[in-house]
Amino acid sequence: HGFTKSLPKIELHAHLNGSIREHTLIELASERNVTLSPKMILHDAESAQQHNDDSKEERLFWNTHPRFWNTRPRNLQDCFEVFEYIPKCVNDLVALRRITEEVLMDAAEDGVVYIELRTGPKCLLRRHHDDDGSGEGGGIMATKREYVETIVEIMNEFEKKERNRYEMEMECRAQDNMMQQQQIVRLALIPRLIISVDRAGTIEQADENINLAIELFQKQQMLPPGQSKYIVGVELGGNPTRNDFTIFEASFERARRAGLYVAIHIGEVPMKSYDAKYNEALAVINFRPDRLGHALTLSTSLIELLEKNPIPIECCPTSNTMTLDFASHHKGSLIDGIKMHPHLKKWIECNYPISINTDDSGIFCTNLTKEYMLIAKVFELDERKLSEIVLDSVEHAFDDDIKAKLRNDIQSMVEMMV
Ligand code: IMP
Repeated sequence: HGFTKSLPKIELHAHLNGSIREHTLIELASERNVTLSPKMILHDAESAQQHNDDSKEERLFWNTHPRFWNTRPRNLQDCFEVFEYIPKCVNDLVALRRITEEVLMDAAEDGVVYIELRTGPKCLLRRHHDDDGSGEGGGIMATKREYVETIVEIMNEFEKKERNRYEMEMECRAQDNMMQQQQIVRLALIPRLIISVDRAGTIEQADENINLAIELFQKQQMLPPGQSKYIVGVELGGNPTRNDFTIFEASFERARRAGLYVAIHIGEVPMKSYDAKYNEALAVINFRPDRLGHALTLSTSLIELLEKNPIPIECCPTSNTMTLDFASHHKGSLIDGIKMHPHLKKWIECNYPISINTDDSGIFCTNLTKEYMLIAKVFELDERKLSEIVLDSVEHAFDDDIKAKLRNDIQSMVEMMV
């Protein structure tokens, strides 16, 4: 656990609202009189089981974190039911600020050094409590543009704070010879943003998000060199049973031509050769997005197509286990569920370009340390292999300007640790 936590990690697939802390959601719901369904509350201490075949140290870790080991299964349908509630609670700029800051803090604390958060811009309908306490009003209180600009502002403040923290800690370490030998200073977290399109929405709504992304992306290109440019890409996600990629293809092509990177969710629901889902997945692969999300249920011929001409895949082990309902077959054991992932073992063994991600850390009660620990345990990966996976995922990041720095920083940390 110590190594995995200290290992500088890269998060490329994290939905902002799905990464909300569980207790923040409960607090926001109570403030806003939203009744959450029992499905919202994931933590179930009673379901925690002891696994006697582990080493003492490991058992200690898992036992002190019961939710890390076993977890109440949530299938795809449950997840999308739960997603409906979150915007009802994150319905003003105060809540948006809060969850963005908390997600970044949690990631930094977990040893993540680069995160691409993704979110669908939303019009927020509730007036935040102003200093004069003027309370709620009707109509739109924050536009989609304000939603995105608020996140960018928070990322900017957070990045500066993190850089200062890192510099101060390095200075302290340099002054204290005693500490110098042992202390590892956590690297500063670099946040970036991907604008999401919800596939359950209309083409007009998709275009609205893509246009906003293009406009803000072009605006940030005017910033002087050295200033962070937060918006790096666009993505298609949302309930995979709704609509079809092809209706959004032209919008994503426009984004790509404007210089934005593109990630598309693919293969989240079962498919048979030549059915509609197969044709959709084939269209996504032929579009050649810069990354694919999940890619779980692809038919053999589609997998072969990818293996011949790879597109990096964002794997989310816990989420994949849950949404494919593997966990429920094993009474919630993530270890047994992840063993059933159809491709991950092979992809890791043959060095297919992948990254390991959380997807929705709040919904699935996870973090990146846990995801790396799970794959290390299930696929028997040593520290070197975990470091290699992290370094490989740097190559799939959407901010090209930061890759060389990330590579060097991670490499030096790994050399100190392994
Ligand atoms: P948001 O875009 O910040 O509101 O993040 C939550 C949204 O991300 C959900 O409402 C879904 O549309 C999307 N999402 C989260 N997890 C998944 C997934 O596993 N597959 C597809 N879409 C997802």
